[in-house]
Amino acid sequence: MFSKIQKRFMNIFRFKNVASTCTNIKAAGEEFKPLKGNELLKEKIRVRQNEIDELATTETTNRKLRNVLLRETIKNQDKETQEQLQRQTEQRSKEKERWMSLEKEAQEENKREMIKHKERNMLLNEQLKALHKETEVQIQRQTEQRRKEKERLIALEKSALEENTREIMKHKQRNLLLSKSMETEKQKKLKKIEEERRMKKKARKKMASPYCQVVEKLDLALNMKEVDSRMVEKEPPCIEDFQLQSFLGEGSFGKVYKAQHRETGKLIALKTLVLHEMNDNYVFKCVALEQRILRLGSERQCLFLSSLVCSFQTEHYMCLGMDYAEGGNLESYLTEGALPLERVRFYSACIVLGLQFLHEHNIAHRDVKPENVLLYGDGYAKLADFGLCQEGMAYDSINMDICGTLPFMAPELLRGHYSRSVDWWALGVTMYILLTGNDPFSGANAEELLGNIITEVPDFSIDVTEDTMLIILNLLEENPGYRLGSGENGAEDVKNSPFFQELDWEALEKKQIQAPFIPENRTTEQREGSLELNPVVDSKPLQKKVQWGVEELFYARSSSSGLET
Ligand code: ADP
Ligand code: MG
Repeated sequence: MFSKIQKRFMNIFRFKNVASTCTNIKAAGEEFKPLKGNELLKEKIRVRQNEIDELATTETTNRKLRNVLLRETIKNQDKETQEQLQRQTEQRSKEKERWMSLEKEAQEENKREMIKHKERNMLLNEQLKALHKETEVQIQRQTEQRRKEKERLIALEKSALEENTREIMKHKQRNLLLSKSMETEKQKKLKKIEEERRMKKKARKKMASPYCQVVEKLDLALNMKEVDSRMVEKEPPCIEDFQLQSFLGEGSFGKVYKAQHRETGKLIALKTLVLHEMNDNYVFKCVALEQRILRLGSERQCLFLSSLVCSFQTEHYMCLGMDYAEGGNLESYLTEGALPLERVRFYSACIVLGLQFLHEHNIAHRDVKPENVLLYGDGYAKLADFGLCQEGMAYDSINMDICGTLPFMAPELLRGHYSRSVDWWALGVTMYILLTGNDPFSGANAEELLGNIITEVPDFSIDVTEDTMLIILNLLEENPGYRLGSGENGAEDVKNSPFFQELDWEALEKKQIQAPFIPENRTTEQREGSLELNPVVDSKPLQKKVQWGVEELFYARSSSSGLET
């Protein structure tokens, strides 16, 4: 509609222009005589002009009317809005009044509650005061009682002390008398012991001579170079030459003690084996085997096997003296958690060298585990405990008797058909334990553990480097034929593993590398004389047939004990 009006206005405007043109023509006509046709046109224009004027007037009137109507509507709307606002304001004020009255009620309720609380608190306070008074009275009574009791005890103590001093005086007098007679008795006993020791040594010397001659003849016949070192030149050591200092550990067949050679001060680890148990063929074989391998290590100067210092027997024990490991065994460190990678690398390298020596001499260790790896004062580790070794195990030899420590036993060892590569499996288990503090295989009981070793794959979700993971995986290879170290190159393959890439094996073999950790002496020293070898109860006499064997054990290392000054 609005556009229509606009159009009309546009027409009016056009006609206006025409009209103005006509007016101009009219003005011109007054000057130049007007034509008849022109007047008709003029008339038409006038009529049209009038129509236009009328239309414009109507339009203006309409517009005015519309404006009036619009203003009226706006006024009405304003009025309505104002009324609405008024209504809302009224509602709000009513609501406000309602809230105020509610608040007032709540405040009154609060006041009433407060008054009640105050009354209750006052009552409680009074009760508490009464209780306090009662407790104070009780405490006073108890303190009084205690004071009296103390006085009584002090009086008793005083009288007891007086009694004691009287007794002590009596004892002292008696002891004075006794000690005089005891002194002479003790001196006599000491003399007797010294005499017995000398006699024993003499007897051994006598026994040693023919044995020595036989050994010498045999060595000469066999053209052995180390004849001198095997000869009994000095009298062999005996238990009296050592002072037992502390207990180091329990062996399968006996106890291990720390002992000091009285004459030289040298410390040794003394493995004591109950002599009459040697009547058992198996025990005798194990002890003889252990001594043989200990000797082999010392004679060939292998720096990675625990070595023999001396061997001797007492009335009840066969004793093997070994070089003393100040740091104890590796298992004892696992109580503090897993070991750092560098230490594990160093110790496993030492074990590899120990195993290499044994395998080169066709010996399978069969009991590699942290408990059998000893840490020495220089921080280097040595393989120990040769009681379960198997001699004559060449690269391709097969053995069938099942022995070892279950969590470290390879699957084929558990099946009873294995080669010396079981040692590399045990090294894998040992490394896993040292690195993580956990066993790679576990089970609620021995049967379950055994089943898991045979069927399960160890948990390799451990946080270690790729090289570490690789060497453990290759050592814990189920198929002994594919296992790292089981090939003809043996230990060399293990040494070439990327895990040992940075290690200078030549320097390690000469002990030219600084160890990553130097142990403190871990054993608790005990007072001199507080330890001694307890005589074995119900000791059975040694069978004749094993007597000579024990004698051989006894002389075997005594000859070059390494204790000479
Ligand atoms: P078993 O054959 O019964 O296992 P071991 O020879 O392994 O006996 O010795 C038992 C424990 O005695 C070892 O785990 C170690 O703690 C301690 N021990 C053995 N030999 C030595 C040594 N040379 N120095 C220090 N401690 C040793
Ligand atoms: Mg052991």
